[in-house]
Amino acid sequence: MSHVFPRVYDRGLPTAVHAEGAWITDSQGNRFLDGAGGAIVLNVGHGDPALIAAATQQLGKTQYVHPTMFTTEAVERYADQVAEVLPMHEPRIYPVSGGSEAVETAIKMARAYHLARGEGSRITIIARRSSYHGNTLGALDASGKEPLRKPYTPWLGRFTHAPAAYEYRCENPRHPVACGDWHGGELERMLTQSPEASVAAFMAEPVSGATLGAAVPCEDYWPKIVEVCRRHGVLVIADEVMTGFGRTGMWFGMDHWSIRPDILTAGKGTTSGYVPFGFAAASGEVFEAVAASGFVHGFTWSHNALGAAVGSAVLQRLREDDMVSRSRVLGERIRGDLSQGLKDCAVVGDVRGLGLLIGIELVREGESKEPLARSAKTTERVLAAARANGLLLYSSTGHVDGTNGDLIMLGPPFCLTDGDVTTLVERTIDAVRSVA
Ligand code: PMP
Repeated sequence: MSHVFPRVYDRGLPTAVHAEGAWITDSQGNRFLDGAGGAIVLNVGHGDPALIAAATQQLGKTQYVHPTMFTTEAVERYADQVAEVLPMHEPRIYPVSGGSEAVETAIKMARAYHLARGEGSRITIIARRSSYHGNTLGALDASGKEPLRKPYTPWLGRFTHAPAAYEYRCENPRHPVACGDWHGGELERMLTQSPEASVAAFMAEPVSGATLGAAVPCEDYWPKIVEVCRRHGVLVIADEVMTGFGRTGMWFGMDHWSIRPDILTAGKGTTSGYVPFGFAAASGEVFEAVAASGFVHGFTWSHNALGAAVGSAVLQRLREDDMVSRSRVLGERIRGDLSQGLKDCAVVGDVRGLGLLIGIELVREGESKEPLARSAKTTERVLAAARANGLLLYSSTGHVDGTNGDLIMLGPPFCLTDGDVTTLVERTIDAVRSVA
């Protein structure tokens, strides 16, 4: 009997023993193409010698020092380097151990900012329906994914949710006409209907990842949203945990709209998954306000030198191999090949994404967009078929109405070879067709 409390209960898990490039090998010698980099985490790729060397070197210097007692060269250097690519004014990073911690930190930063400015009434976060921001209670309250919230509903309810930026099923009655205006209007309505000066921040993923399968907002969505936030004194928090570090074909998701958020969160690709690490970044203005009165917060593993050292190596690898452009180019190619290869496949409603963040929405039939019955477990069957054929994909279910909704996600490492791209596309098409 195992003493591990596992993540899945309906099947046994293979034991991973080796990983290199875009491939993972198990203890039986089976090889799997990591088509989603786990949960869209491995931006650089597995077994990268420069990342491993950075971790090893840092462990040879310091292992653990407490962030209230020391800073380290690794953290200072990383903060300087990442500041050059963050879409923010004079950013200050608060390093943490992952995405949920980054989101919790960001929420508290927003509160601390308003408190410092004498607006202690600003306590609400407006997030969006069908969003994902993490599984700790604050981050879960911001998240709009019903199946994840359901068991914990009695503990949630402080935050509110605006419509998702989800072009395939847009809530704007006049869609596709004036969607940006409509979204801005909805947010404005929520703000004016809330008690005066009660909203601290609007938080959203630049491109919706884990719960909407790479849903890209319409062109003027972000400009309209940000304009409304600024006018109402509401901070903009960009949750870039999934979209950061080249995943969407630019350094950060917000770069596609040239938006500069007040607070930004990062995780996953920050260290390409090698070390649990992430951060919440505050703009210079937010930092100055918060620092003046102090930030009541902290984690034992914040400001971790090992994570920072690997983070620096990730930035260098992304730069030297021009991997951010590679994500954009490969993403276009893979989306094109998948759309072409699946165009006569009735259950494929939409193939979408930006860069190497790619989603396939499965429906009963394309025209009606009606979701498949959840009892058919279509997503699970696609993933099982792919797995049996040596391909690992990521997925999400329940986004349409809290129960139904089938999404397949791809988010491979940027080091994918041309041969890997062909294998990824062929095996994905085969897996989807096998259930059609
Ligand atoms: N925010 C976003 C946008 C995410 O995609 C995720 C993870 N899927 C999180 C936050 C939470 O990150 P973690 O699982 O590292 O806590």
